[in-house]
Amino acid sequence: MSESVEYVVVGLGALGSAAAYHLARGGASVLGLERFALGHERGASHDTSRILRHSYHTPGYVALTHDAYDDWAQLEQDSGQLLVTKVGGLDLFPPGGAIPRTDYTASMAARGVTFDELDREQVAARWPQLALPEGTVAVHQERASIVPAARGTRVLQQRAQAHGAVLRDRSPVTAVRDLAERGVEVDTDGTTYRCRRLIVCVDAWSNDVLSGLGHRVPLTVTLEQVTYFRPDLAERFAPGRLPLWIWMDDPCYYGFPSYGEATVKAAQDCGGPTVSPDERSFDADPAMRDRLAEFMARTLPGSGPPVRSVRCLYTLVPDRDFVLGPVPGHEAVLVGLGAAHGFKFAPTLGRLLAERAVGTEPGSDLGPFRLDRPALIEPDCASRWLV
Ligand SMILES: Cc1cc2nc3c(=O)[nH]c(=O)nc-3n(C[C@H](O)[C@H](O)[C@H](O)COP(=O)(O)OP(=O)(O)OC[C@H]3O[C@@H](n4cnc5c(N)ncnc54)[C@H](O)[C@@H]3O)c2cc1C
Repeated sequence: MSESVEYVVVGLGALGSAAAYHLARGGASVLGLERFALGHERGASHDTSRILRHSYHTPGYVALTHDAYDDWAQLEQDSGQLLVTKVGGLDLFPPGGAIPRTDYTASMAARGVTFDELDREQVAARWPQLALPEGTVAVHQERASIVPAARGTRVLQQRAQAHGAVLRDRSPVTAVRDLAERGVEVDTDGTTYRCRRLIVCVDAWSNDVLSGLGHRVPLTVTLEQVTYFRPDLAERFAPGRLPLWIWMDDPCYYGFPSYGEATVKAAQDCGGPTVSPDERSFDADPAMRDRLAEFMARTLPGSGPPVRSVRCLYTLVPDRDFVLGPVPGHEAVLVGLGAAHGFKFAPTLGRLLAERAVGTEPGSDLGPFRLDRPALIEPDCASRWLV
């Protein structure tokens, strides 16, 4: 069977759902195709929470965070739901740490974002839950927030449908063909769709879907783990009492105040093994949990014992910058990939992809995220994931 539709979006995690939402909101006819059930937990957009922050390592990213806050606010207005919980954020730079503080402070200053630099004693006075080594400097940015992962993705899907998008789950895309002026053909089980533009947001599975176009993105998929800890005095870890925090070193850890339950969530960034997205485990990894628990016992001594862990996929490119734009030689096929830090930007990346698809000049420069940038085409480009 074959059907024609103006725009097809493949993959309905946070990015694809946002692209479908912005296309539909703009009045376009759009079909979203998802391989698993909507809301599944096999990719990167599930679980409770994600960090939204201004503190980033380049002025370009800091500028994009302003758009992210605006696009989340627009989604809150459109959905009538509160999605952004402001709790403040601390970037913790230990002495001799692997991540330079000035990357962050200079980038925020360059883009008009205010922040405070605090020493260990000042942190201890405000947040006695944190036990930091001598010489640690903290950069506090008061607007850092929590956004809901699974619920945020669901809201994007619901609003896309409310604006007229058709979302079909359990519809794996098995092949893509670029027919030039005749459009793009997309095969799923039993049905072929013809569309004017195709948006591919399938993260860890990107090379499976793009293989028909003869293009490969150098991806590394890792199986990450977040763990929830149960403090004795949960109120000490509530929003307003404890901010978000990121330990800016190698290994890099990050954590949240409690969010909808009397636990605190934490994880290591890029701490998981490399996997294939279809042959990965869902079981908790005791070694990853124990490594994190040791760090938590040292740094947030009252955070209590680990009570549960959740697995989730990171999809990394060598420079850990987004992938956003057309497949080289296939202008009608756009790719969106968040490089394992894309959730906070999902409403924005979805909007930029939609703008590009309908031919509106995207509101931001997508140049740094091109698929034919050196880091994505030079063989053996060294990975730089610690940002
Ligand atoms: C543990 C963890 C913590 C994170 N923390 C943060 C954070 O604090 N802040 C932040 O900004 N980001 C964070 N991220 C990154 C962020 O969650 C991801 O960048 C983002 O969710 C990626 O969304 P996506 O829609 O691109 O991918 P996914 O959610 O994986 O969606 C891709 C979709 O494509 C579908 N698909 C695959 N193949 C096909 C096919 N052939 N046909 C149809 N559909 C297909 C999949 O089923 C899936 O639903 C974190 C990620 C993890 C794992």
